[in-house]
Amino acid sequence: MASDETLRERLRSIDGKGYKAYKGIKGEYRFPNYALYIDHVQGDPFAFPSRIRVRADRDLSGFKSDTTSNASRALGICDFLTRQFHRSCISFSRGHRGSGKSGLIMITEPLQEVLQRTAMVINPRFVEARFFMGLPAAGRRISAMDAEAMFFEELPRIVQSSLFLEQVDTPQLYRYIETTEDADSLRNQLDQRGLIGFVADDAHLPRASGIDPRPMDSQSAVGFQSPASLRVEFSLPNRGRITGMGIAKGVTLIVGGGYHGKSTLLEALERGIYNHVPGDGREFVVAHPDTVKIRAANARSIVKTDISPFIRNLPFQKDTAAFSTDNASGSTSQAANIIEAVEVGARVLLLDEDTSATNFMIRDHRMQQLVSKDKEPITPFVDKVKQLYAEKGVSTVLVMGGSGDYFNVADHVIRMTGYLPVDVTDDAHRIAASDTVDRLPEGGDHFGDVKARIPISGSVDPAGGKGRLKISAPRLREIVFGHTSIDLLDIDQITDIAQTRAIAYGIYHATRFMDGASSLKAVIAAVMDDIEKQGLDVLTPYITGDLAAFRGIELAAAINRMRDVRMEQKAQV
Ligand code: ADP
Ligand code: MG
Repeated sequence: MASDETLRERLRSIDGKGYKAYKGIKGEYRFPNYALYIDHVQGDPFAFPSRIRVRADRDLSGFKSDTTSNASRALGICDFLTRQFHRSCISFSRGHRGSGKSGLIMITEPLQEVLQRTAMVINPRFVEARFFMGLPAAGRRISAMDAEAMFFEELPRIVQSSLFLEQVDTPQLYRYIETTEDADSLRNQLDQRGLIGFVADDAHLPRASGIDPRPMDSQSAVGFQSPASLRVEFSLPNRGRITGMGIAKGVTLIVGGGYHGKSTLLEALERGIYNHVPGDGREFVVAHPDTVKIRAANARSIVKTDISPFIRNLPFQKDTAAFSTDNASGSTSQAANIIEAVEVGARVLLLDEDTSATNFMIRDHRMQQLVSKDKEPITPFVDKVKQLYAEKGVSTVLVMGGSGDYFNVADHVIRMTGYLPVDVTDDAHRIAASDTVDRLPEGGDHFGDVKARIPISGSVDPAGGKGRLKISAPRLREIVFGHTSIDLLDIDQITDIAQTRAIAYGIYHATRFMDGASSLKAVIAAVMDDIEKQGLDVLTPYITGDLAAFRGIELAAAINRMRDVRMEQKAQV
């Protein structure tokens, strides 16, 4: 490893030269308290910034072994250090100077969710941050003085204030670690208590705005209060006792007047697959890890999905047992979303009337009389939701303020009134028993088969122009993969563009398991297994700090939305 002075000399020797001369600084350098790795140097000042790492010895960094004594605690400290590093970049980097990205020092910025990221690694030997620097230039000529300031003044301050215990806010660090550990413990305890979700008393669910995921100001937000009949208590490793509303396995209906907080509750559960940063308000709102938000997504493409449990006898004899379209309707997209989620292991479905196709959700008695079953291809969800639980063990939480037909099939009914939940299960069941509509059940005896599909190798091709890999995430819900663009607009549970990027590379990794015989579920499981064993770094040909953990469910959803993927159906999963 070269000395830091070597880097200084190299920088000085290329001052004023063409930008390509920066390639010569690639390498490893020993700084007083850490090692600096310049892994990749950008080709010009306007290109994506250069990939850089710094690594400090664990002993020197001072973080005790109790900060990493289990996976949850390690996740907590990594998240905290990434945020600290990000703040330090803002405080200590002089920022943009010169052409293109000149002068930038940046690390991925975590938002409300606590995600495992490639940006920060901590193990018994070292703490390592992976970030990006825009090597400075005036026009296309190297500005060595600016580069020297970045490497020898700004970066050392950033590193010193974020990778060393001495300068970090220790109580705050432990708050992150303990919150993460408690949230994981809570989520892990749900199943044995027969629950699929939990909302803590005093949780703050509403967000600052429709486009700002930070919490609503605490003056305006009404704190959550569990109804006594649904109240449960848990014991957490750090916080101790906690109470809140338990959501049981089976079918749960959320009703209530418009604007009373139904969707906000459902959205909190949707995010409950992730841990949240302390202060978010939803730190102790958790859901089963395989909870999937389902919505209608017309215009999506579908490839050989068996949607016949919900839809049969489409006009022109279109086959719904192996349904393909490049332009789905609201109802067919929602049916496919459910079947595909179950196909890869979803255990809980979340549906909101706001984002569902009405004809998929309900078909009332009057309509049954006017349009007979043989002229209606759709079997509404109300006739299938119980079978889904009884036969497949898949629970549903459903927001439905507009139809009482679901009273008959709901195990629990929660009414939101003024943002607070009331258990109205008995009332709803009484109404269902006394006000007997002669609605005909349409669901048949069984839910139906959920079939496995096999992705055909070769139909998933990451090659862009000139055969070079083309894999990127231009937006939070869009992937570019080879010659295709994948629209993920309906995948609400992707929360960070670093996940989108990782999913994009996950698709590429998945191609190595597409052998023409393995099911999509098996392929996804193989990818997730590699990540579990080797970390997210396994996905990319080089180390990069801008990936975050994702679920197999979202990876499958992305593959299912590829417009040129080919699939073959296999027997039942
Ligand atoms: P619904 O789905 O019942 O129509 P929403 O969940 O969309 O209602 O909530 C309506 C509005 O009320 C939103 O602007 C939301 O931010 C706000 N809101 C929701 N829950 C709370 C709460 N606990 N405290 C304060 N405002 C809330
Ligand atoms: Mg709503």
